[in-house]
Amino acid sequence: MDDRTKLVDAGRHPEQQKGTVNPGVYRASTILFPNVAEFERPRAYPDVGYGRYGTSTAFNLQEAVQALEGGGQCLTVSSGKAAIVQALLALVEPGDHILVTDSAYGPTRTFADGFLKRFGVETTYYDPTIGAGIAGLIRPNTRVVFMESPGSLTFEVQDVPAMCQAARERGVVTVMDNTWATPLFFKPLAHGVDVSILAATKYIGGHSDLLMGTITTVPALADQMRARVHDMGTPAAADDCWLALRGLRTLAVRLAQHQAGAIAMAEWLAARPEVARVMHPALPDDPGHALWSRDFTGASGLFGIRLKPFGKPALTAMLDGLELFGMGFSWGGYESLIIPSRLARLRTVTPWPEGGPTLRLHIGLEAIDDLKADLAAGFERLKAAA
Ligand SMILES: *Cc1c(COP(=O)(O)O)cnc(C)c1O
Repeated sequence: MDDRTKLVDAGRHPEQQKGTVNPGVYRASTILFPNVAEFERPRAYPDVGYGRYGTSTAFNLQEAVQALEGGGQCLTVSSGKAAIVQALLALVEPGDHILVTDSAYGPTRTFADGFLKRFGVETTYYDPTIGAGIAGLIRPNTRVVFMESPGSLTFEVQDVPAMCQAARERGVVTVMDNTWATPLFFKPLAHGVDVSILAATKYIGGHSDLLMGTITTVPALADQMRARVHDMGTPAAADDCWLALRGLRTLAVRLAQHQAGAIAMAEWLAARPEVARVMHPALPDDPGHALWSRDFTGASGLFGIRLKPFGKPALTAMLDGLELFGMGFSWGGYESLIIPSRLARLRTVTPWPEGGPTLRLHIGLEAIDDLKADLAAGFERLKAAA
């Protein structure tokens, strides 16, 4: 079945909800049992027993994400960061070692360098483009290879199948943060990944009004992951599951529009004299283009640019005057965003070369000509203040 059909169909049970197209919001702590036998009955997931393990609202969403991810078991937690933290904690013990891409989302590094280190887990960062060479960094106590492709802020594409093969041959579990592509444009499990993570906060929700993470695990790890994630006790709330499921239904049409807008904008920016480089894997001259073409079925709305050397006052003049692009963290909503990205402090093995300022853009669902006009006026301010 085509993914677009799954997005509409999966996790919908009108017969269980008085015929309504969408599920009800079942907010619950207590679930009442009719008798002692039901109270004492061992519960197999997904089975409603206590609100913290989810109600049918969460299970409907999990079922839909699972269908899109292509099988396995989906769990929903309270944020994308919580999904990363809990998936990693479910897989490591003190004394273990993990490998994390140097292009990982900043707060992933914060967790590895802070909590995991105190917990006795050592992290080695690796060049995101290492590919099968990851084998050379695997030690006897390496438990996890963590990937994120394209990388946060710099958008390097990873050779996920080659890395997964190298890890699997050595008994190492692979975890991937797939927030950029969503399983609509890249399917981690089909490419060999064991644990697929999404910040559902971004494109699944799609409206900048919720925080959620999903952890989808291959069947072999499902029981361990579920037990350990449940042990952390931070489920996604029923209202947010309902919103995320509502967002998911329109994911395909939104992403098609984000993709078209971002590619048009990336091409326009690549031709601007103020821009030194565009970091977008769908552009043919991007270093990650060959891998992206091989493995991905689309590109989302997030990419980076590097400007020619302009000073801070010029950059500030450009950004402060923008009218359509908002400035703020996160992305994946319907609106366009731009932020200056500070790369140097986030790299340890693949230093980012000195040069002009870098920006991260999220292209929303506005008309592209209006967005170009907003940026064109910004470039005039940039040059005037240089
Ligand atoms: C935003 C983001 C997260 C974290 O999601 P939150 O819901 O904000 O915690 C994780 N990974 C990537 C790649 C992200 O962009």
